[in-house]
Amino acid sequence: MTELPRSLPEFEVRFPDEAACARWLLEKRWPDGFRCPACGQAEAWELGRERLTLQCAACERQVSVTAGTALHGSHLPLRTWFLAAWLVATHKNGMSARQLWRQLGLGSYKSAWLLLRKLRRAMVDPEREPLAGLVEVDETSLPFRAGGEPVRPGRSHDGKLLVAGAVEIKGEGPGRIRLAVIGDCSAVALGAFVAAAIAAGSTVVSDGWPGYKKLKDVKHEPTVVGETPAHLVLPWVHRVFANAKRWALGVYHGLRPKHLQAYLDEFVFRFNRRHNPAAAFDRLLGLGLTLEPATYQMLVCRS
Ligand SMILES: [Zn+2]
Repeated sequence: MTELPRSLPEFEVRFPDEAACARWLLEKRWPDGFRCPACGQAEAWELGRERLTLQCAACERQVSVTAGTALHGSHLPLRTWFLAAWLVATHKNGMSARQLWRQLGLGSYKSAWLLLRKLRRAMVDPEREPLAGLVEVDETSLPFRAGGEPVRPGRSHDGKLLVAGAVEIKGEGPGRIRLAVIGDCSAVALGAFVAAAIAAGSTVVSDGWPGYKKLKDVKHEPTVVGETPAHLVLPWVHRVFANAKRWALGVYHGLRPKHLQAYLDEFVFRFNRRHNPAAAFDRLLGLGLTLEPATYQMLVCRS
């Protein structure tokens, strides 16, 4: 039913207008049929409003398909949201606000930026399961743009931010990943990252840095002995770091420190759904449904 359109023409057929998008939201929010959020009654009728609204037959509560969701209160058409989510979910490297602005033909850059921030917010699943099993962990530094200038190699006044990464190893290759900004490479910072990202009982493979010596609830296998380069013993976390850096340069011409964690979340979201863009699209709109609507101020002040 919700198979993802594989091309723009397919998107046009699947979501031709506001009504089709509203119907999709209705089925996503109440897959087993509408239930009144106030009284639990299943019987309701549809009101002829601009945006699809149901009225409970028992208590007369009126519920818009977008009420209580990330889309609520937006002046943009539902179809603009859907197209933005589709572009972000299916585009291999994602989109900058500037690209989205042009692609959607929006009136202002600010509305494109805000739309993208709301979609990014939906990328973090608060109930996501921690990584488990065999997990490579390491840390790196990402260059960021100090001012409005793009990052250029060798520029001394560009800053660097520390990032911790973890990659599940599934057989020969990587499973899911996590990336997080850390303040330093101390045992406290790395311990907190591991505790948040990795399930108890897992096995952590590290480069033997002292910061990993006191990990709790996980088995620790320091693997670097003497001069062995870290990328040989931790191949996947190093490949993820390299991809993230290339992505940051390619899509954003370098990251700004203020929103770095949000960018990392986007990279992680994309990586973890790399084999299933349909799930990414569902998540961008479907998961957004469970979040409280975010105001401009909330988005700007966060992180
Ligand atoms: Zn009711």
